[in-house]
Amino acid sequence: MDWQRLLDQAYAHVAPSLGQRGRVADYIPALAQVPAHAFGAALATLDGECHEVGEAGKPFSIQSVSKLFALILALPVQGEALWTRVGKEPSGNPFNSLVQLEYEQGIPRNPFINAGALVVTDILQTQTGGASAAILDLLRTESGNFEVAVDVAVAASEAAEGNRNAALAHFMASCGNLRNPVELVLGEYFRQCALALSCRDLAKAGLLLARHGLRADGTPLLTRSEAKRIQALMMTCGTYDAAGEVAYRLGLPCKSGVGGGLLAILPGVGALATWGPALDEKGNSIAGVDFLDHLTTQSGRSVF
Ligand code: GLU
Repeated sequence: MDWQRLLDQAYAHVAPSLGQRGRVADYIPALAQVPAHAFGAALATLDGECHEVGEAGKPFSIQSVSKLFALILALPVQGEALWTRVGKEPSGNPFNSLVQLEYEQGIPRNPFINAGALVVTDILQTQTGGASAAILDLLRTESGNFEVAVDVAVAASEAAEGNRNAALAHFMASCGNLRNPVELVLGEYFRQCALALSCRDLAKAGLLLARHGLRADGTPLLTRSEAKRIQALMMTCGTYDAAGEVAYRLGLPCKSGVGGGLLAILPGVGALATWGPALDEKGNSIAGVDFLDHLTTQSGRSVF
């Protein structure tokens, strides 16, 4: 399979409409300044190659893609007990919805909506004493790029406008589903969301799942079964309340973020990361989903 040619073709497919549809996530002021027409993609393969198009080396705010790596660190330590504090069903509601949380007594539907990620951050904070630092460390090691860092301006910007996440966190604390102080959990959550990685970095870090849980140095972080379960959750819950539509189009486990990033795992091949900041109304990158739709359709490769 000539992956570079397939990436080039998918890029040519999305290039004419970049920035023409959707909008950047302006509810986080620091993200409102990102150009809507930017685009990059990288495929890190299991045999050690990295194919790239566009701005594949430019760091962007990974936002909710960080929720995946928080879960990767928390699940092997907590085991099945983690699922007493957060569910594993698609939410069918926006990623920052408050209503469902009240109906369900402060147990978030899944770890990839904001409320669920706040619980996982709380668990990881107890586990490590520094949730965002643990995620940063994992991403640096797995990407091989030790310049990966938190964009503190984005973290501060989100904290300044973070009333909705604060509401989710306070509500869950009132239900007994946060163990650390609310302000500490929120601060760690904003920092993890503000991690800045390029498509290249993110694809390389995603290889952890393509290798069924083995780290870059060959040591196991997840069991094969845990890697399977996390990817199943990516498929069913990784793209907010559009997970069904995205699964229909891509047939891949993936996780999106409102910074315009998408990380997808292509079984037997590697990990794909895309960045296109213009989002649809559900919060997913329009260009990223179009790109991966084209790539999986033309290559005939997906989970199915
Ligand atoms: N930091 C963002 C928020 O909490 C993450 C949302 C996302 O990427 O889905 O609103």
